[in-house]
Amino acid sequence: MTARVDHAVTSGTFTLDGETFDVDNNVWVVGDDQECVVIDAPHSVDEILAVVGTRRVEAIICTHAHDDHVRVAPELRKVTGAPILLHPAEKPLWELTHPDEEWDGDLSDGQELEVAGERLEVLHTPGHAPGAVCLFAPGLECVFTGDTLFNGGPGATGRSYSDRPTIVESIRTRLMVLPPETVVHTGHGDDTRISAEMGNVH
Ligand SMILES: [Zn+2]
Repeated sequence: MTARVDHAVTSGTFTLDGETFDVDNNVWVVGDDQECVVIDAPHSVDEILAVVGTRRVEAIICTHAHDDHVRVAPELRKVTGAPILLHPAEKPLWELTHPDEEWDGDLSDGQELEVAGERLEVLHTPGHAPGAVCLFAPGLECVFTGDTLFNGGPGATGRSYSDRPTIVESIRTRLMVLPPETVVHTGHGDDTRISAEMGNVH
C-alpha cells in the first residue's frame, strides 16, 4: 500500500507571554489505508480523527510544544492509544499547557521513524522553540517543518524560548541542504518548496 499525506486545517488560539491570538493550524497525517502518524495535535480531536478515519495511529508527533500544536495531544492519545513523541528540550513549553501530563517518547536528531513503509527522519531545528523538529520524508519528497519554516521564510522568534540567529542557522544547515524540489508542509499556511525559500532565510 502506498503512503500518502493527508491534511486538515483546524482553528483555535495560541497563547504565550500573556497574549492570545486566533490561529489556523495545519494537521498532517502520513500513512496508508491501515496505519498513520499524526503530525501535531491542534485544537480539535474530532477534526484530526476525520482525517485519520479508521486507520491505526502509530504515533502523535509534535513538531514543538506551543499550545496550538499540542493542546489536544493527550486527548488524542486517549482515543487512539498512540504515544506522544516530543523533543525533550520542549519540556518548559509543554508544561505551560499540560502541567499534569507527560509525553511518551523523546524525539532526537537523526532518529528515524517509519510508517507505511516510508521513513521519517527527525531533524532537530531549534530557534522557534528549543526542541523544534522537522520531519523529512525522502520517499515522499517532502518535509514537515512545523513553525520553523513557512511559505515566506523563517517562523516567528519574537517570544520566549525563541531565537532568531538560531532558527536561521537551523534552516540553513538542516533544511536548505535538502533536495531543492522538496515540498515543505508547514505548521500554518500554504505549502512551499525548499528552492522557493532559499532567498528568504536571513
Ligand atoms: Zn509555534
